Amino acid sequence: MCGAAIYFYRGIRFIRMIHTGPAGYPEGSRSPADAVRKVRAAGLDALEVQFVRNVQYNQGKAEEARAEAEENGVLLSAHAPYYINLNSPSPETRAKSEDWILRAMRGAEAFGAWIVVVHAAAYGEDARHCSERVMASLKKVREAADGESLKAVIGLETMGRKAAWGTVPEILEAMEEVPGVLPVVDFAHLQARGPPLNPEGLRALLGSLSQVPRLHCHLSGIEFTAAGERKHLRLGEGLDHLMVLDALRETGLEATVICESTSPMEDAQIIRRRLSQVI
Ligand SMILES: [Zn+2]
Repeated sequence: MCGAAIYFYRGIRFIRMIHTGPAGYPEGSRSPADAVRKVRAAGLDALEVQFVRNVQYNQGKAEEARAEAEENGVLLSAHAPYYINLNSPSPETRAKSEDWILRAMRGAEAFGAWIVVVHAAAYGEDARHCSERVMASLKKVREAADGESLKAVIGLETMGRKAAWGTVPEILEAMEEVPGVLPVVDFAHLQARGPPLNPEGLRALLGSLSQVPRLHCHLSGIEFTAAGERKHLRLGEGLDHLMVLDALRETGLEATVICESTSPMEDAQIIRRRLSQVI
């Protein structure tokens, strides 16, 4: 724990920094370093590098972005490819999935990104052994990463489809079992999977995460069906983002909120404004 997020100065209640910024480079970015500058110029201080389709980057440009981020106080994270499935019935697909995580971690190392967000698995035909398989794979990845001195934390995202592995209890179990693993709380996904979020539920959820040293979060609007997540929307659609942000800062957790809405820069600025308001 890095201290409370709420503190008093001269009798006024202030909020300690919760980092916030977009998923993906702002439109018109000429390079990763330029993306970091644009994030900073917009009054934001976090950026999630997207390796979601492929882990592709130029080492020199990544290092340039890393230096720019360090100088500007922009916290970088990375998102691993979407097609990872550590519970695939095919050993080949599982091995490839492990390799995708490792490759994303190498990318994270180049950028100085502290966490790699992973969609770990689908239950498929074998839901019962899903957690075991996920944890066995994560242990392998962690060992290989440590062997290469890759520092990034593996972040397991709470998933929005009911067919996907990744409830909070499942992720907390993996965090206990595997070193260097933390939860990534996607509030829109929690809302989609149900039950719908409310202040009491949020307080209980965030209370269960109080041991997490730095809580990485995703926030957006959301459209969903009985099967869970359908698609991400603008902030405020399908989820009361103000309720989420207020609950988050009340906890005093050190946190980052990455905006994954359909307008990540504009909506991240809305998040920033809410987090900066005195409550
Ligand atoms: Zn994700």
